[in-house]
Amino acid sequence: MRKKATLILLLLAALWLPAAGQAAAPDSPPIRVGIWANQVNIRVAASTEYSLVDTGSRKVLGKFKAGEKTLLSTKDARMTVNGTPVEAREIKLVLAKPGTAEVNSRSYRGEITIHRTKGKSGLTVVNTLPLEEYLYGIIATEISPEWPADAVRAQAVASRTYSLYNLGKHSDDGFDLCAGTDCQVYGGKDKEDPRAIRAVDETKGVAVTYQGKPIPAFFHSSGGGYTENSENVWGTYFPFLRGVPDFDQKSPQFKWEKKLTPADLEDALASAGVSVGKLQTIELSPLTKPPVAGSPDRGVSGRVKKLRFTGTNGSVELTGTKFRTILGLNSTLFDLQVVLPVEKAVEFEITDNYGSRDKKKVEINVPPAPERRLPTDKPAIRRIGGRPNEMIVITGAGWGHGVGLSQWGAKAMAEKAPRGDAAYFKEILKHYYPGTAIEKIY
Ligand SMILES: [Zn+2]
Repeated sequence: MRKKATLILLLLAALWLPAAGQAAAPDSPPIRVGIWANQVNIRVAASTEYSLVDTGSRKVLGKFKAGEKTLLSTKDARMTVNGTPVEAREIKLVLAKPGTAEVNSRSYRGEITIHRTKGKSGLTVVNTLPLEEYLYGIIATEISPEWPADAVRAQAVASRTYSLYNLGKHSDDGFDLCAGTDCQVYGGKDKEDPRAIRAVDETKGVAVTYQGKPIPAFFHSSGGGYTENSENVWGTYFPFLRGVPDFDQKSPQFKWEKKLTPADLEDALASAGVSVGKLQTIELSPLTKPPVAGSPDRGVSGRVKKLRFTGTNGSVELTGTKFRTILGLNSTLFDLQVVLPVEKAVEFEITDNYGSRDKKKVEINVPPAPERRLPTDKPAIRRIGGRPNEMIVITGAGWGHGVGLSQWGAKAMAEKAPRGDAAYFKEILKHYYPGTAIEKIY
């Protein structure tokens, strides 16, 4: 009898104690994530029996077996379920038992609803779940969970803070945040990792705040030695998004280079609607060591705020961010040179040692000559044209916009964290978001 009672107690305890990674914190605010937008077809399924319900009328539109795929689509401004038009404005996937919903073969925690994409003909799928569980599905897509725990914790806090600040960002489309790089890359349950889940749980409810409110906690891969003031990247000043020294020297993108011909650059500019004709000059002040003060076209880290292109059809000024997008550069922290390429191996005609009249072609390796920089009128003006084989060489540093937390810098800081200091992630966050507090807000 006593044994039985103990067993029941143990069973009760097992049911009561939430399993790791499945804890739905009651005080975690819910978040609506737009996981698919404007899709022609959506295939839903679940790990258990499920039904599709009209959220407005609560009418059951169909019941389905575990694993059975149902096709949702649109026809004549109505949604269809396996080809049959329905009146519902929003359809909810309801599980018969605890389990996992699937959308297009990916698993998700929480609720799944589908509605017609506003102003478009396709379907939008929204995953609503506690914010803490949403974080489980994004940390491992943003940072390697194998990195030191304090770097993963810092990422968890930055992502939580960023999410809280951006709740409602896409409310016009019927959700809070999208699941792509525009917001944060969310992969659902398939992208979860136990180490990422642990970092979220260990920092539950902790956010970066300024004057008591969560901040727009921007983060990026690698700052290239120095991060940037927000106004120099997006034009908006935030007192806590200031350029600070970065420790990302071990990042694979700490230094990078891109070479292109003047014609390549002309084509890229033209395809972005920026046509200056045949390129003649590029105006950009030379990159100097940070902190850079008082530069007309560079920010505190040296990131390019603007640069001017002049050609036979006129002149245009671009922001560094726009130029980065046009060329697909890793960052706006770069310098630019017009150079002549190194000489290639050449072929010589030689006579052999025996005085044969036959001549042979032998390839001789010529040691590469250093790239020659062309003279400029002013340090800021790079002149193009007039010499054959000219190349434009862009040498840059870092990867991403360079504002806020640098993930590679956080990794380097975490590697040097004092042993036994489980709160060191706070020091990392305070470094990259100067003047903020790190506090538990729920
Ligand atoms: Zn978004």
